[in-house]
Amino acid sequence: MPEIPEVLFPSDRHQPVDPALIAELRADLDRLALEMPNWIQFRVTKRTLSEMARCEGLYVAGEQSPWPGWSVPLARGTLLHDAASVWLMADPDLSPVDAVNATFAQRAGKDRDSLGEWLRTADPFVLADLRQAVNNAMNLFVRDLAGLQGMADIRTDQRIRVGFRNGRLQLVNAPDITVGLAEARVSIELKTGRVDGVHLAEAMFGALVETLRFGQAPDRVVLWDLTSGEGVGYDVRPDDLRATARRTIGLVKRAVNVSAGYVEPLLNPGPYCRYCPDTETCPGAVAEPVQLDGGES
Ligand code: SF4
Repeated sequence: MPEIPEVLFPSDRHQPVDPALIAELRADLDRLALEMPNWIQFRVTKRTLSEMARCEGLYVAGEQSPWPGWSVPLARGTLLHDAASVWLMADPDLSPVDAVNATFAQRAGKDRDSLGEWLRTADPFVLADLRQAVNNAMNLFVRDLAGLQGMADIRTDQRIRVGFRNGRLQLVNAPDITVGLAEARVSIELKTGRVDGVHLAEAMFGALVETLRFGQAPDRVVLWDLTSGEGVGYDVRPDDLRATARRTIGLVKRAVNVSAGYVEPLLNPGPYCRYCPDTETCPGAVAEPVQLDGGES
């Protein structure tokens, strides 16, 4: 039986979240929704918060630019998550490569799915590159996290949404993997590059959304870097949920204001200038974008 990495296990057994804390968090976010202009419907995801935290110009550029279309790096992350889902729920004899093949076939067969359409029409050499990239990432995933396969209490990419004031403010999240371990619940985010504080804040946002939706927080969040085969785990405490709600409220207020053009976005150049839609024209763009250690899945 493959072992489950130690970092996935919470320090304590399951601790229920105090209903008074949940009411407090709800009231704070409800107040934010009430204060927002009534013509706005604002959807907050991990991406909203991470782009706002890295560079407000990056967030605005992403909002205003048309969808760039699928590419190998973008498709790799989506297909890896699909293949990992298939493999985690499958019989132990399903190989990683069979899970990847099943995922490609399933996606390519989907009507009205932009990724399926792209897979059906992509250049065969591009597809071969993509398949290799997903197979490589899947092999890393299975090598390190095989112990999770077939666990009864496991969910993947479960989309969760919490709305306030008739949807004026919506918090949306889909944790990569949630699993019950040692009488506790653990939320795992898969990464294919160095993890940092913004990734941790994203994971805590996921814990906040789960708390508001189900009345229960995951006991631990784990950022698992497939490249290094190492994870970083944090137990979720009441103060983390409070701090995450405060941070979310602050970033959403700024995001609403920069989106509406009420304030100029603050520029904060960094390695992400490399994939910013405004990188050619922005006066703040770093002249020679720093090489990232790797992309994110
Ligand atoms: S190019 Fe860099 S500094 Fe300019 S908006 Fe994009 S991320 Fe920000």
